[in-house]
Amino acid sequence: MVVIGGGPGGYAAALYGSAAGLNVALIEKSRLGGTCLHVGCIPAKELLETASVFRTVGHAGDFGVITDAPSLDFGVTQARKQKIIDNLTKGLSGLLEARKVTVYDGVGTLEADRSVRIRGGASGEVHLQADSVILAAGSVPRSIPGFDIDGRVVVTSDELLSLGELPRRAAVIGGGAIGCEFASMMADLGTEVTILEALPQILNGLDPDVAKVVQRSFKKRRLTTRTGVRVNGHQPGPDGTVVSFGDDQSVTVDLVVVSVGRRPSSETLGLDSTGVSVEAGGFITVDSTMRTTMDGVWAVGDVVPTAQLAHVGFAEGMLAIRDILGEDPVPIDYDNVPWAIYCHPEVAFAGHSEQSAGEAGYEVVTSSHRFAGNGRAMIVGETEGLVKVIAEKQADGTGGRILGVHMVGPWVTEQLGQGYLAVNWEATVDEVAQFIQPHPTMSELFGETVMSLTGRALHG
Ligand code: NAD
Repeated sequence: MVVIGGGPGGYAAALYGSAAGLNVALIEKSRLGGTCLHVGCIPAKELLETASVFRTVGHAGDFGVITDAPSLDFGVTQARKQKIIDNLTKGLSGLLEARKVTVYDGVGTLEADRSVRIRGGASGEVHLQADSVILAAGSVPRSIPGFDIDGRVVVTSDELLSLGELPRRAAVIGGGAIGCEFASMMADLGTEVTILEALPQILNGLDPDVAKVVQRSFKKRRLTTRTGVRVNGHQPGPDGTVVSFGDDQSVTVDLVVVSVGRRPSSETLGLDSTGVSVEAGGFITVDSTMRTTMDGVWAVGDVVPTAQLAHVGFAEGMLAIRDILGEDPVPIDYDNVPWAIYCHPEVAFAGHSEQSAGEAGYEVVTSSHRFAGNGRAMIVGETEGLVKVIAEKQADGTGGRILGVHMVGPWVTEQLGQGYLAVNWEATVDEVAQFIQPHPTMSELFGETVMSLTGRALHG
């Protein structure tokens, strides 16, 4: 088997395939680990953790721990981030080597009859003949007219993650997951941030109750959010660059971060002369087990039109392997994958929102509980946020099957697990309400929210 692309989708396929006894070659043109490890999830969350430490130290006095006002040595932050990336990259290389996956350095292109050519890297020109090929070429940041990426004044996530220092003022164009994570991180570390979002809400698609909590928290931290605005371009001024938006509004900043989505990198794969169909926008067409339109060729990860999440890439890589092995695998239920957004406050959810459940024809009951009443959250000093559970409505008005679990607040990316399991196990409110939550924990809030849908609750 040949895998083109060494990011989460590709390396998961390579590792899982080799674990199943396949003879695997993995081709990577840049660095093993892909966007996630080098310019995505890992570095972004490391910088967000720095922001979290900074906030915590800033509030140390609330606990009677007396410190000087915190200041930031961003060089140390960057070095720490790089060390984590280097460790993980080394770990991944070692794992691939131990599994006897042959790694090629170069650009892989698909040719006829499941053959792949490798060029332009340290491995020189190589031709491989495979029984099966997995395309996992990933994605790159999109840009918009009027904002040429120069890596200095206008950046995407690729460049932002390696800045030597943070700007005094920044405009973030696009209030999706990337925009909100960067805006939150920079604001907590002292940058004056303005998010410019075209849609009426930041984090579009989120349950509005959850989005409202994020929005309110941003506002309290003087992070300005302008929604429903069109961005026109930017012009250098005497005191920074002037980003114009709306009818005649503008904001002067030192850095513009463009986070308006990512486009698939299918153009590097040489697909024009193959039977692999590519849709508008460059996404590779796949069926429910990741097969492309060419026999013996699968595609996974950001290069296919599914949620652009590393963990979805992992799942797709493994799904393709099971299909290659002829195991008749269960397709991924994309409506119920877990989401985790690491801005402050964190957001995590799985399954239907109240609105999407209604649109899907369900009659629902919902319950929300706030972290403000949770003992552990008070102890930690992070009481912003809530848990909202959406369940199918039963004849007696209580909740039946759990359709969606939405969380915003402290450590919710780590707390979603139970909610994800409940939704995907198709568990009912009564079943989950039986489970004991350890005390005192933040996860009691999930237990409480589910319990209140049985018609009886402890705390409200
Ligand atoms: P996105 O699609 O999530 O958000 C882009 C935002 O930009 C949208 O809200 C869109 O309305 C807005 N936008 C587009 N053009 C605009 C314009 N001209 N002016 C103003 N706003 C504009 O994309 P992203 O945040 O760049 O992230 C890319 C992908 O990576 C997404 O699929 C995202 O889910 C994924 N990602 C996920 C996480 C996470 O889950 N923690 C983190 C990072 C990235």
